Amino acid sequence: MRKNKLFVLSALQISIAVAPCFGAAVAKSTAPAQVPVSTATAKTSEPKKAQPAADKTPLWDTYRMLTGKKFVDMTHPFQPGIPKWSGFPDEKRKKIYTYARDGFSATKYTFVGQWGTHVDPPSHFHEGLRSLDDIPVREMVAPLVVINISSRAAEDPDARLTVDDVRAWETKYGRIPPRAFVVKRDDWGKRWPDNVLMQNSDVKGRRHFPGWSVDALKFLVLERNIVAIGHETTDTDPGITVSDDRYPAETYILGENRYQIELLANVDELPEYGGLAFITFPRPVGGTGFPARVFAIVP
Ligand SMILES: [Zn+2]
Repeated sequence: MRKNKLFVLSALQISIAVAPCFGAAVAKSTAPAQVPVSTATAKTSEPKKAQPAADKTPLWDTYRMLTGKKFVDMTHPFQPGIPKWSGFPDEKRKKIYTYARDGFSATKYTFVGQWGTHVDPPSHFHEGLRSLDDIPVREMVAPLVVINISSRAAEDPDARLTVDDVRAWETKYGRIPPRAFVVKRDDWGKRWPDNVLMQNSDVKGRRHFPGWSVDALKFLVLERNIVAIGHETTDTDPGITVSDDRYPAETYILGENRYQIELLANVDELPEYGGLAFITFPRPVGGTGFPARVFAIVP
């Protein structure tokens, strides 16, 4: 039995449908001049690396301290039928070994990389920039900054997170620390798993959900050296912009060699200040997207 259980884990198979990156071609053709896509630019625009600590003090006291805190899972469970971009196929699953027949279970999963709560590496939009296997684990732990625009988004679903929102956060809590994971809160995650509510289309089929402004992203990258961004919505840009097949905010942030996480869960449970984010995902060679497991430990 025990042996079989171990085999369940090791025999788990995942196959990924390689689908074209949505919006990529359009994004590149509409805004090529604004986006640095060369590898040389990429190397200089990566978040500046923190110096490794020379201190050998054991971290087990830190572990005990952290386990006394609240843990928030920022990941939606995924399965066939969850909200997805209209151009992607649904997930498929096939049991290739079963308990009854084989004494153990193994499942073949087929899904597009941008599935459920997922990571978009720079290579999702920009050939030559970092893929999933290029992102170091040091970028997977970060100070968590939550910028809350939910009350504005409730009134205006086309709301954008602006530089003024970033400055208002800093007036309250102080300067955003370097290498932070900055999350936009608009409470759109509460609409999951209802894709009609998430897309919020009008009678003409134009979508209305909140997004980032390019200026806010420029400020966060160039002035605050953030490591990544995250949001609850399906897209970086607001729905009205992606309805025109334009993706300027996503093109910008990925073009700066930062990664992003989409379709985050439970963001309303996070404090705006003082949390620690853990952002993890598998390491497929050349990977342009994958489901992610994201959580926070919060004071
Ligand atoms: Zn995505």
